[in-house]
Amino acid sequence: MAAIKPLIAGNWKMNGSRSNISDFAAIASGYNKTDTGKADAMICPPFTLLAALANHPDAGALAVGAQDCHVAQTGAHTGDISPEMITDCSASAVIVGHSERRADHGESNELIAQKAQASWRAGLMAIICIGETEQQRQNGDTLSVVESQLTGSVPQGATAKNTVIAYEPVWAIGTGLTASVEDVAEVHGHIRQLLVSSFGDEGASMRILYGGSVKLGNAAQLMAVDNVNGALVGGASLKPVDFLGILAAI
Ligand code: PEP
Repeated sequence: MAAIKPLIAGNWKMNGSRSNISDFAAIASGYNKTDTGKADAMICPPFTLLAALANHPDAGALAVGAQDCHVAQTGAHTGDISPEMITDCSASAVIVGHSERRADHGESNELIAQKAQASWRAGLMAIICIGETEQQRQNGDTLSVVESQLTGSVPQGATAKNTVIAYEPVWAIGTGLTASVEDVAEVHGHIRQLLVSSFGDEGASMRILYGGSVKLGNAAQLMAVDNVNGALVGGASLKPVDFLGILAAI
């Protein structure tokens, strides 16, 4: 089995205006000077910047993804964006099921699975997020929660090319707290077993990202854990120096 090429994806969330296009250009410039064969890199800006970044003349190998999509291709869905519209902006991926969307918009596993399928229809790679809350971890339910989210949100047809899994403990997102190396190893190992049993060889080579307060100071340690194939980075992806430092830690 070929080695898994890691992915470092930055999630800008609801941050960024046109003045931040220069930050994207700085990330692109730094990344394209490195051996881009070593790790893939991606920035997921808000929709308002998607076309500008995805068509940026200096993007080079730096990919661009969206943060959410609707299930339908077109129609009466005011305020929503379809996967086909994301492809039309020249972006290549979309995050689905981020815990902030699960919490803020009541998104269910079923809906997230539909969004993943819709994103494949448009030729996008789906980055499917899962992760337990603090309460669920305290109750000792982490592995069962992650298992039911994975089973419910990752549809049949998932391959190593069209799908990336992001394990993001909710209590670690934007809090400065990170899961311990031991906990990350346990959860990622469990996710790998489940992926292999559902998707065989595709599951064995599917990327599993860790997300939750990844920063310069902890990236190397986290990225060295078994079955961690990159990171989904929120806050630190807004600062080019930090994001490039995380990439260099791979
Ligand atoms: C995220 O947005 O997915 C995330 C992990 O955020 P942060 O790195 O800021 O915790």
